[in-house]
Amino acid sequence: MPGRSTSSSGSGSTGFISFSGVESALSSLKNFQSCINSGMDTASSVALDLVETQTEVSSEYSMDKAMVEFAMMDRELNHYLKAVQSTINHVKEERSEKIPDLKLLVEKKFLALQNKNSDADFQNNEKFVQFKQQLKELKKQYGLQSDREADSTEGVDEDMIVTQSQTNFICPITQLEMKKPVKNKVCGHTYEEEAIVRMIESKHKRKKKACCPKIGCSHTDMRMSDLIQDEALRRAIESHNKKRRRQSN
Ligand SMILES: [Zn+2]
Repeated sequence: MPGRSTSSSGSGSTGFISFSGVESALSSLKNFQSCINSGMDTASSVALDLVETQTEVSSEYSMDKAMVEFAMMDRELNHYLKAVQSTINHVKEERSEKIPDLKLLVEKKFLALQNKNSDADFQNNEKFVQFKQQLKELKKQYGLQSDREADSTEGVDEDMIVTQSQTNFICPITQLEMKKPVKNKVCGHTYEEEAIVRMIESKHKRKKKACCPKIGCSHTDMRMSDLIQDEALRRAIESHNKKRRRQSN
């Protein structure tokens, strides 16, 4: 294109190639990612509902499949974002005078990433891992373990499991039964959301580290971002209370 290269004296590091279009495409892809996230939240909560209402296993299985599909979409999207970003970086570094075939470059990088896909990737998807854990925990609370899982706890006293889970209903800060439990991803302890958030905030305000309030826990630097909603526990507490109310009536 005549005259085009003369504008390469501009201050942009790449001269005449503008990435603004690419960057806006990237940000809309990131929006799409948040849609995947909320889709995963919905599928998780439906799956937990199904366990709670003890619906037949086949519908729970379909939620599992939905989660796998979401996780795959998420992986693909991440690969695409990575491919585009690294192509942009590559072109910026090269400072080449001729415009490279961006589409081809992105495609190549994308395929290279896709080729490395394996099922183990889902272990890196936080929402997927959480989903599996929460489902397993809720099933444990309901005594609905799958055969394979049940084998490993064989011989454990039923009553002990119940007492154990009931003590887990108590927040180490308020010493009260939790209404909105959150779990610490790092040490696995749970607390009432409001209480732990207040605790971390007040420590951080005084420029101090926040220790896990659970006695005996060695985790000494809690972050707000370590906290995740413990939906399985919340449901277990709720259903336990419902049962208790029914019994006292
Ligand atoms: Zn802890």
